[in-house]
Amino acid sequence: MLPTNTHLLYPEFDYFAPLTIYEATELLAQYGEDARIMAGGTDLLVQMKMERQQPSYIISLARISALGGIKRLEHGGLEIGPTTTIRALYQYLTSSLQLPISNFQSPTSNLQSLQEACNWFSTIQIMHMATIGGNLCNASPAADSAPPLLAFDAQVTLKSKTSERTLPLTEFFIAPGKSIARPDELLTHIYLPASLPDTGSAFIKIARVTADISQVCAAVRITREGNCAQDARIALGSVAPTPMRATVAERDLIGQTFSLELAEHIGKQAAQEIKPISDVRATREYRQHIAAVIVRDALLRAWERTQ
Ligand SMILES: Cc1cc2nc3c(=O)[nH]c(=O)nc-3n(C[C@H](O)[C@H](O)[C@H](O)COP(=O)(O)OP(=O)(O)OC[C@H]3O[C@@H](n4cnc5c(N)ncnc54)[C@H](O)[C@@H]3O)c2cc1C
Repeated sequence: MLPTNTHLLYPEFDYFAPLTIYEATELLAQYGEDARIMAGGTDLLVQMKMERQQPSYIISLARISALGGIKRLEHGGLEIGPTTTIRALYQYLTSSLQLPISNFQSPTSNLQSLQEACNWFSTIQIMHMATIGGNLCNASPAADSAPPLLAFDAQVTLKSKTSERTLPLTEFFIAPGKSIARPDELLTHIYLPASLPDTGSAFIKIARVTADISQVCAAVRITREGNCAQDARIALGSVAPTPMRATVAERDLIGQTFSLELAEHIGKQAAQEIKPISDVRATREYRQHIAAVIVRDALLRAWERTQ
């Protein structure tokens, strides 16, 4: 019989709800591979119901207030707590851009791509439960928050009982469902450095239905100087074993006079760099074709937002 996610959770497990990061890392140190962290549970519980994961111990992050919230840093960057829900992040970004929620597309900020990724994220119910930290730690190639965070040069902090390290998000994803985090490590912070003035960004997601994960998604960030693309990042999801940056396309774009023809060329270049597969959501060929189109369109949209 094929596994489904409609099973009851019948294997028994012990449930912990620590109050501090230290208590959580102590539990991780004690139970190691037998334990799983749970944030919103929208990935973990599905995997448990499908019997792909059967932890003996669940460590909930729900009561650790230090892992939530969003802070503007003094130098203009942003610190996002991993248990911030996708909905809370969307609302924060929307209100900090002083936009009415129904008008989220107005181009007034360089964080538009992250805001758009949150807005495209499944259903309202999932948005209220799913956390940004869970989205990254689940390490799906389709994680919607990953491309905009990669395009903003995000960093993540991982903490264990005895160590702490901060690394670029580009080093975080290793394989489908696998990140660089050790079983005894907790993701405790996500940092976005301040971006330069005259920067615009955009995120585009193509999915079979609105509530589905992407067939292909792309986020771009572009900084202009006059008519030139002074700096740029291009990141894609659902097109390789991990969320990825199209670094050759970025190099081809930086320093060039921006135009529709250039955006088209860069879209095609990005599509050459991806390594898509065919699966239930889309064929390899469709992903390749669509990647070029959405990178081009995201570049055009982001460029408009730099003005
Ligand atoms: C119906 C449905 C629709 C969905 N649609 C989308 C979609 O449109 N886009 C999308 O990207 N995803 C989607 N998802 C997947 C899921 O909702 C997201 O990946 C979500 O962000 C996971 O967050 P969570 O808090 O629920 O994670 P959890 O399920 O709690 O955890 C996920 C994994 O991360 C680990 N983890 C969580 N937090 C930490 C931490 N701080 N430190 C270390 N490890 C941690 C857990 O141990 C687990 O392995 C969907 C899921 C469902 C069920």
